[in-house]
Amino acid sequence: MNKIICEKCGAIMEPIDSDCACGMTCPKCGWGWASTPFNAMDEDGTIYDIILLEGNSNSEDIIKTISQITGQNSLNARKTIENAPVKLLTGKAETVDKVIRNLEAKSIIFKTEPTFPH
Ligand SMILES: [Zn+2]
Repeated sequence: MNKIICEKCGAIMEPIDSDCACGMTCPKCGWGWASTPFNAMDEDGTIYDIILLEGNSNSEDIIKTISQITGQNSLNARKTIENAPVKLLTGKAETVDKVIRNLEAKSIIFKTEPTFPH
């Protein structure tokens, strides 16, 4: 593990808990932090819309995926696909991220507004 130098006094920082890298503290001046590693997604306060686009097949696999995302039964999920473009979900980055991965895994045609940068 690399040594982390205290940015206040230049001493070598020590981990608060040696079992995890979740926080560091300076033994000399007490400066430090206790947090999870920096995560850009948590910092992202943007609300994203996931919009299902036209051109998706209404195969059972895709209907199942859409119904999982929207909580619709398969009949309504099929209508959603047929009525595209339709907004599927609105949420912050950490909410839409899983859904985006799910849609990409099924090669479903969709877009996010604004563009999802993660
Ligand atoms: Zn220090």
